[in-house]
Amino acid sequence: MEYGPAPESKEVAEQWLKKHKPHFKQYINGKWLAPKSKKYMDSNNPCTQKKLASVPLAGKADVNDAVKAADKALQEWVKLGGHGRARYLYAIARQIQKHSRLFAVLESMDNGKPIRETRDIDIPLVVRHFYHHAGWAQLQAEKLPDYKEIGVVGQIIPWNFPMLMLSWKIAPALAMGNTVVLKPAEFTSLTALLFAEICQQVGLPQGVVNIITGDGSTGSEIVSHPSIGKIAFTGSTEVGRIIRRATAATEKKLSLELGGKSPFIVFEDADLDSVVEGVVDAIWFNQGQVCCAGSRLLVQESIAEKLYRKIRHRMEKLRIGNALEKGVDIGAIVAPVQLKTIEDLVQKGVDEGADLWQPSWECPNDGCFYPPSLFTNVAPASIIAQEEIFGPVLVAMSFRTPAEAVKLANNTRYGLAASIWTENINLALDIAPKVKAGTVWINCTNMFDAASGFGGYRESGFGREGGIEGLYEYVKLKVEDEFTPAALPQAVEEKIGHPGNGLPAIDKTAKLYIGGKQKRPDGGYTRNVHDVKGHIIGQVGEGNRKDIRNAVEAAHAAGKWATTTAHNRAQVLYYLAENLELRASEFAQRLSQALGHSNRKSMQEVKASIERIYTYAAFADKYDSYVHATPFRNVTLAMKEPLGVMGIVCPDEAPLLGFVSTVLPAVAMGNTVVVVPSATAPLSATDLYQIIETSDVPGGVINIITGDKEGLTKVLANHDDVDGLWYFGSKEGSTLVQHAAAENMKRTWVNFGKSRDWFKPTHVNTEDFLRHATQIKNIWVPYGE
Ligand code: NDP
Repeated sequence: MEYGPAPESKEVAEQWLKKHKPHFKQYINGKWLAPKSKKYMDSNNPCTQKKLASVPLAGKADVNDAVKAADKALQEWVKLGGHGRARYLYAIARQIQKHSRLFAVLESMDNGKPIRETRDIDIPLVVRHFYHHAGWAQLQAEKLPDYKEIGVVGQIIPWNFPMLMLSWKIAPALAMGNTVVLKPAEFTSLTALLFAEICQQVGLPQGVVNIITGDGSTGSEIVSHPSIGKIAFTGSTEVGRIIRRATAATEKKLSLELGGKSPFIVFEDADLDSVVEGVVDAIWFNQGQVCCAGSRLLVQESIAEKLYRKIRHRMEKLRIGNALEKGVDIGAIVAPVQLKTIEDLVQKGVDEGADLWQPSWECPNDGCFYPPSLFTNVAPASIIAQEEIFGPVLVAMSFRTPAEAVKLANNTRYGLAASIWTENINLALDIAPKVKAGTVWINCTNMFDAASGFGGYRESGFGREGGIEGLYEYVKLKVEDEFTPAALPQAVEEKIGHPGNGLPAIDKTAKLYIGGKQKRPDGGYTRNVHDVKGHIIGQVGEGNRKDIRNAVEAAHAAGKWATTTAHNRAQVLYYLAENLELRASEFAQRLSQALGHSNRKSMQEVKASIERIYTYAAFADKYDSYVHATPFRNVTLAMKEPLGVMGIVCPDEAPLLGFVSTVLPAVAMGNTVVVVPSATAPLSATDLYQIIETSDVPGGVINIITGDKEGLTKVLANHDDVDGLWYFGSKEGSTLVQHAAAENMKRTWVNFGKSRDWFKPTHVNTEDFLRHATQIKNIWVPYGE
């Protein structure tokens, strides 16, 4: 029996398009304006290849007008307060809901995705996002009292979930008091323009939301605009890298949600019929044009052939066709250029010797269609196993043991999502923490909700969208306004001779500290350390590239620290404080000697350092993960995980307190660190070796490399095995760190040459430090009825 046709009516959408003929305008400052660029581009229906509309291709002047409008609207929007903003967000949610069918039809026509998906998934999730964030606006003052808006936010979104990505960007930004300039992707601008009408209908104040359409050049104008305080981007890792570099020299906050090659792991005890439906949702949902698509099927060897047979059987029954046909499973690829990319990558797979299987039926030939495809006999290092195909192409590999499954799963530069299929909850919860991915679905896949954060590890980007974790992307600490440009350390003229009583001090040259041992610097050089008057007060090792490499290796080897219980980590930290206290006067003396401070002032720094260690020891087992109330048959565990190996370049102000304030939060959260101590008083750090040794800190957890601060920073920034880098130093150093970080997308936190008062607890917001030292993995677990 064949299904009869059941097309969704497109009448209302066509009327709406007709209303805007011949050209759409852009939405700036609450008005519809023709582009100053006078340029337009076509938006086509991928299922028919027919033109739907002509939309502006905004240029520099248009971007400028939009940013100006957003800037002008900012103050009033902030003043409106959380409740006022909540009312608008709520009104937007209601209004979209009222026009949900128009949104769904238009989205399907513009993007080519099946109406079943836009109607039942995309648009309901959009509505949910605005409702949820209306709630966050309402609660902002209560839940985030120390934070404020960033200002004007530039948002650039892709074509695969046009309205959903818009809501993920705009809802949290507005909730937290920002105003926005958003650019949809050039292939799919229409629902964003319809959304602009919704903003008008609910009377959103002019300039709070500005929608400009355009291509990559418009996007890069947004990225480089000086009045924008934050860029939020979703798209390819390649463009993400360009944006990371383009914003490196600025203080713009950045969140990047990039590509993926997510593993879909099936163990032999899984319910294979559910798995097959899961596979359909993982890789044929939205034609596989999903950043978190389960595009790598990893199957336990014992059931691999059986599962492949079942999948092929199901593939044969999938229906492909016009997106507005209610019975289709697969719609069209968004544009001919994307179709060509898929075809080329599939050909590469065939050339590499993998076995390609496609259903026997033919695709319609009047649009951008591509059949669901399965590759077996795939080598893990092959192009199709490593590159994001962004199409309906599944690449299958097998494994024997759970350990092998984890290895294969993590054999990628990405880390966006993973899904795990087994009837054994112990096995699932054993694997979930080991997979490097921002989202892990257990016995489910491609589940999204506004209450749960979504975002990547590694080259899948950084920052989260959704949940409370997503809000932090759109706020900054109020106290940041108090941070001022730091006085750079003064170079002192070196004085031969020695301070003190006339006798030469017993020669003491601190070595480097790597893997729990004091090591001579690889280059065999030392550098003199001076007091403020220029007298030589000691020497430290001159670390180089090789020393950093060894330290990073040692830090990786100490990775077990991440799974040591938080209670144990806290004990080690308390012990560290205890041992520092025993030698407090010696440390104070050292500070006085280096900085010329009175003994009282130096003692104050030591005491403050001990207290701060206590704070982080206390937080080690109290910076809890949480459980999100996602509204399906799931709960979502938002697990805070360490970044991994972190580089920490310490501030020059308050050498001991600065060291403790930056290194200890990272270590408390389970990271292992390579530290470049303060350039002004490195002996305060090298004196800590013995304390670290006697405090049960496992070798390799804290590694200390002295030497040229900026040179060592550069090595850390370029190191591919460093997962995060904090830098407290100059503006130039900060730029360098952010620029180099684009290579492996390491998380960075830099101060742009601004200093804080390390003695003031408000300046050293504990949770802020802990948050920068962790990333959240959301694990969706089946729960309840
Ligand atoms: P891009 O990353 O090129 O596009 C994403 C958005 O960024 C679009 O709005 C795009 O504009 C804009 N853009 C492009 N270049 C720049 C720039 N230099 N500065 C600022 N903004 C820019 O993705 P594509 O649409 O070209 O897709 C290419 C590949 O990216 C896909 O095959 C897929 O692998 C991946 N991708 C990943 C997505 C994800 O969700 N992670 C989503 C979409 C794509 P415009 O549309 O005009 O190009």
